[in-house]
Amino acid sequence: MKKNVLIIGAGLTGLLLAYRLKKQGIPVILLEARNRIGGRIYTHLSAQETPIEMGATWLGQQHTALVRLLQELDIPIYAQYTEGSAWYEPIPMQAPQEVQLPPNESPSYRIQGGSSALIHKLAKALEREEIHLNTIVTNIEVSDASIEVKTKDKTYTASKVISTLPPNLLATSIQFSPELPEEITTIAKKTHTWMGESIKFGVSYLTPFWRENNWSGTLFSNVGPITEMYDHATIESEKYALKGFLNSNLSNSTKEERKEKVLSQLTRTFGKRALEYISYEETVWQKQLFTYTPYENYVLPHQNNGQAIYQEVLYNNRFYIAGSETASYYGGYMEGAVQSAQQCFEHIIRN
Ligand SMILES: Cc1cc2nc3c(=O)[nH]c(=O)nc-3n(C[C@H](O)[C@H](O)[C@H](O)COP(=O)(O)OP(=O)(O)OC[C@H]3O[C@@H](n4cnc5c(N)ncnc54)[C@H](O)[C@@H]3O)c2cc1C
Repeated sequence: MKKNVLIIGAGLTGLLLAYRLKKQGIPVILLEARNRIGGRIYTHLSAQETPIEMGATWLGQQHTALVRLLQELDIPIYAQYTEGSAWYEPIPMQAPQEVQLPPNESPSYRIQGGSSALIHKLAKALEREEIHLNTIVTNIEVSDASIEVKTKDKTYTASKVISTLPPNLLATSIQFSPELPEEITTIAKKTHTWMGESIKFGVSYLTPFWRENNWSGTLFSNVGPITEMYDHATIESEKYALKGFLNSNLSNSTKEERKEKVLSQLTRTFGKRALEYISYEETVWQKQLFTYTPYENYVLPHQNNGQAIYQEVLYNNRFYIAGSETASYYGGYMEGAVQSAQQCFEHIIRN
């Protein structure tokens, strides 16, 4: 029988898998719930087109599959800017302290053109009609004859179907008939979705004023709301920002409340020039319906990522559970997404 493949989710795993399959001449369709591709990779263009990474930003040389993929696609990387001193806020009521961090022996790198450059390069190899946006999969029905993937108003069939959803989201948001094996559902509901609880923010500026004082822009704080922050200048253009993470207990505050707290913290650290910003952007990932759904019970970061159970192909070799969290190594990271896509691709080619 001629193979055709349906991939649920157009994040890094789904797009890389589609890219590889298409190169082998295997027909492929991606169904994506959001109105954009990329999933947890999202380079948001703020005012004056300053790119802010709302999702994945950094990689390391240890992420060998991702590094190789970027080389294959001719996408350069560059080291995260860390020159100068950092700031540390140990406790409330104490001024932030200027500290010298030791040189990082394994630096973090960023993707030139933004992390979404990787996503868009992969998508460029696909036709517009091969990526269906705003398409929320709700049901998967399997019989001896076929595997059907359903949305509110459409049914798709294919010889192979791949989910790239974070496992907890898959087990919670898609109805299966017959049901997924119980052991898989149980593990999936206890599989941490990497960074699902995080709040990312970025504040853009006309100039990197912090560098004038030999400050790197790095900040670590036990006080908050910013817990961790870095210089977010782009290497390819003169666009400047500070970007980092907020304490996740602020997820139910309003954007205005978070913004005010962030600016107040930036001012006590960098002085009044911090208020001369162009824009404030943020993404509360707990509120992203197509990434995060609450767990039935508390799970630890990375819990059950890379569980061997995800390597099983279900429903008579027709349904794969892929995605970063299922990868045996670096589950949760972009590297995991690349490994998952490659492994799934190799299996589909052989079977
Ligand atoms: C804030 C944040 C920071 C991060 N930082 C880093 C970092 O610095 N370095 C790093 O390596 N990794 C980082 N990561 C992790 C990295 O983003 C992920 O590992 C990677 O992008 C996962 O890709 P994926 O394709 O497996 O999953 P996803 O990107 O989650 O893709 C799944 C896709 O499925 C879609 N979908 C969901 N439900 C449905 C449905 N019912 N029907 C159809 N489509 C659906 C989603 O919209 C999404 O596009 C970060 C993640 C976040 C959120």
